[in-house]
This record gives sequence, C-alpha cells and structure tokens, in this order.
Amino acid sequence: PTMAHSKALLVLENFIGGKFVPCSSYIDSYNPSTGDVYCRVPDSGKEEVEAAVKAAKDAFPIWSSKSPLERSQILNKLADLIEHDLEAFAQAESKDQGKTITFARTVDIPRAVHNFRFFASSILHHVTECTEMPTMGCLHYTSRAPVGVAGLISPWNLPLYLLTWKIAPAIACGNTVVAKPSEMTSVTAWMMCKLLEKAGVPPGVVNVVFGTGAKAGEALVCHPDVPLISFTGSTLTAQRITEKSAPHCKRLSLELGGKNPAIIFDDADLSQCIPTTVRSSFANQGEICLCTSRIFVQRGIYSEFLKRFVEEAKKWKTGNPSDPTINVGALISKEHLEKVRNYVKKAQAEGARVLCGEGVDPLALPPGNQKGYFMLPTVIAEVKDESCCMQEEIFGPVTCVVAFDTEEEVIKRANGVKYGLAATVWSGNVGRVHRVAHKLQSGLVWTNCWLVRDLNLPFGGMKASGIGREGAKDSYEFFTEVKTITIKH
Ligand code: NAD
Repeated sequence: PTMAHSKALLVLENFIGGKFVPCSSYIDSYNPSTGDVYCRVPDSGKEEVEAAVKAAKDAFPIWSSKSPLERSQILNKLADLIEHDLEAFAQAESKDQGKTITFARTVDIPRAVHNFRFFASSILHHVTECTEMPTMGCLHYTSRAPVGVAGLISPWNLPLYLLTWKIAPAIACGNTVVAKPSEMTSVTAWMMCKLLEKAGVPPGVVNVVFGTGAKAGEALVCHPDVPLISFTGSTLTAQRITEKSAPHCKRLSLELGGKNPAIIFDDADLSQCIPTTVRSSFANQGEICLCTSRIFVQRGIYSEFLKRFVEEAKKWKTGNPSDPTINVGALISKEHLEKVRNYVKKAQAEGARVLCGEGVDPLALPPGNQKGYFMLPTVIAEVKDESCCMQEEIFGPVTCVVAFDTEEEVIKRANGVKYGLAATVWSGNVGRVHRVAHKLQSGLVWTNCWLVRDLNLPFGGMKASGIGREGAKDSYEFFTEVKTITIKH
C-alpha cells in the first residue's frame, strides 16, 4: 500500500496479527492545510476489531512470558527505527494533522521515539513490595503481571506522540494491544506498523484498527476480551466509554480535556512569562490538552501585560505548515475551525474585546493553502467568567485574558470550571507559588514555566479532566494486575 503516483490517494490498511489487511469500506482523510482529500482510512467495525482482539489474545501467552529485558530490547529497537525515519514521520504528521513541520520534527516524533526508550528503561527498574509479620511467621509480597489485551484509543492532536505513550507502557508490561488512532490522523500509526516486524515485535502484539470512534472505537470498548481501556480524548467521549464498558467492569484510564488557567502575579518576570504564555496558548494551534486558555493577570500589571502579550502573539506567523518559519499551522478540520471561530463570535456578542487575530487582522495565505483550515492566534479580553469562552474547552488558537486583585480571589476563579488538568503560576515569591499550587484543583501545576515534563511522575487530570494517571509508576500499575502473596514458614 504505497502511493502509486503523486496524485493517487494514500490508502491505509489495518494491521492485524502482523499483517496488513484491507478493509471493505474506507473514510476520506483530509490534508488540513489544503482542504484536499489525500488519504483513505479503513472504516473498521466489529468484524475487524474481533480479528484484532483474537490476534492480540493469541499473542499474549508468548509475549507476556518474555522477560522485561527482552521486551525492553525490542522497544529500544523500535525507537531506533522510528528515529531513523524521523523526517518521513514528521512530514507525514504535519501533512495529516495540519501542525507545523517544525513542531512535528521537534516535539511529536522525537517524543514518540522517547516514549519507547523511556518505557524500555523504566520497565527494568520497578520493585514490588514486601512486608514481614515476624510474630505470625509470615512474609507478604506483591507480584505484578500483565493483564491481557489492552484497548488503546487516542485523539488527533498529537497523533503518534499520544498513541506511543500508551503502546509503549502496555507492551513493556507484557500486554498485547489493539490500538485505534483518531480517524482524522491515522497515517503515522500505519507507518509505525511497517517497522514492527523489523524491530522484533512478534505478530499480534501490536494490532492497529483504523476507523471512527462510533464504529471501531465502540466495538473495542464493548469487546468482552479487552479488560483494559486507555483513552485520551474529550470528556464527552469518555462518558460514553464509561457507560459502554460498565457491563464488563473494565479498568479505565481517561485523559480528557482541560480549561487551563495561567495565573500571573504582579511580581512575575514578564520577560519570561510573556513568550512562554504565548507559546502555552498557541503551540500546535492551541490543540494541546495542556494549552492555556484563561489568563488571569494581577490588576497592577494588567495593561502592560496585555499590550506586550498581544505584541508577542502577533509575531506568530500563520501559514503553510511545511514552511519551517511558520509557527501556526492549520486546524484539524473544517468543522473544528468553525467551532473555534464561533467561540470568538460568541465572546464578541457578549461584549468582549478581540485584541488580535480572528476577525481583526488579515490572514494572508499562500495560493496553495487558500482552502486550508487556518486561523490567526486570537487574544480576547474582558470576558466574563461565566462566558462559554471561559468555561468550555475551545481547543484552538484562542486565549482569554482577564484581571484579578487578590490571591484568594484568583484561586477561586481559576478553580471555577469543570476541568482540572493543568495550571500555570507566575510569581517571584516562592511562598506564594507553593501556596497557590497546593490550592489549585489541577493534576499538573507549572510555576514559572510550561510543559516541562518528567515522564517518571504522574500525568493526568482532576474533575472532568480525567481518571487515573500516566507515568513510569502509574502506567506500570495501570497495565499490570497486582497480587498479594503471603508465605508462612
Ligand atoms: P474525541 O473524544 O472526539 O476522540 C478521541 C478518540 O476517541 C478518537 O480516536 C475517536 O475516534 C474515539 N472515539 C470517539 N467516540 C468514541 C466512542 N463512542 N467509543 C470509543 N471511541 C470513541 O477527542 P478528539 O477530538 O480526538 O481530541 C481532542 C480532545 O482530546 C480534547 O478534549 C483534548 O483536551 C483531549 N486530549 C486530552 C489529553 C490528555 O492527556 N488529557 C491529551 C490530548 C487531547
């Protein structure tokens, strides 16, 4: 399945039991920067999921009995192979998703490589627990074993990055997997499948079925032989998955949406804070669950902040994602672009001020990108806390800036949304930084920085942002079943 000539569509196939298998029907996939259909993705359903789960079940006894070291070596090999093709993967991710080539080259694909290396290493270093009861003559210890077939469902914003963040720990722990990437961004997962055999991943250990959430995703969630579901996506879909999996009492890991605040106190170092907050608002077109979308600025520096923030935002160039000087690429789809634009319209209708971007500044696009789904970085001020723009996840290049007076007030306002994924605090006062960080209802709090991650530590959200955590120890615990064994002498 390769492109016969440049005009031919790229046609993907499912990867089941170590083989590429065609599907009976297909979905069109668009290049977001041109608006053209360029790829066809299998529209899998129950039948394809059934075959993939069977292959994964058959592969489980052998894979789960390999030593962690053997699995680790295979994961490292796979990381090397992806890294060897980094440029091809980055080009494909940019074309399929609309993100800039620079972002794909420096963030998405390097991180996918690192995910495999990270779990190849961390799987070698876990220790189980042991306690003694001398008076009873007993020793207790825990043992951990892989669970079985894991269902992995990932979104379109960081396609290979987030999918490998699930595949790597799942198979490192000895599970076999059936993965379903987003139907809008399936290409890099398919490219990865082409490397599995060479890396030494036995057939059936990693199966990928492509298709929509409603058909392929739901078939996976409802399959009785898939005891684990690791999902990253929207809160709405997570509710549906929870409901559908309930009859089987499945173990769920849910990484969901955010409405992330940045809190900027008047003693913040603005020379650091402003470029970082522009980046945290607009990186990857604002399509990162961790992106900042509510900026609370202490009243004394509000006007100065706003002026400098807008100046900095205007430096971000929007255009052809394959141009390495471009900062903002295309949004994922026409529908999503419309949805994001509508938020700006709603804010305006409510009396908010759009300071730059959508509807205010001209968007000049190269001739080949006129039909692409582009939007300028947009800054909105004077938005009410109750406004949908301050409450709902927009997931685009839009950020709202509002003023606050006191620490107590801003904590309450920052916590006043249904989400609780990530927050950012800017202040030179270390006492205040700790105090505020402790009071924020957020799974992650970055102070005086953004998106600095140690993959060892728990990642995940509170409230409507998720259930469960991912990370070295957390993913190990999720992807293994623990047993307590008591030995009496
Ligand atoms: P989405 O929920 O629409 O889709 C995510 C995945 O779920 C896709 O593969 C989709 O096909 C599948 N799906 C949809 N309906 C399904 C169903 N009924 N059963 C099973 N699977 C189904 O999300 P999206 O639009 O692709 O991604 C954007 C969302 O993801 C945002 O809300 C964003 O915040 C969130 N996200 C969260 C994190 C995190 O780590 N917390 C990271 C990235 C993105």
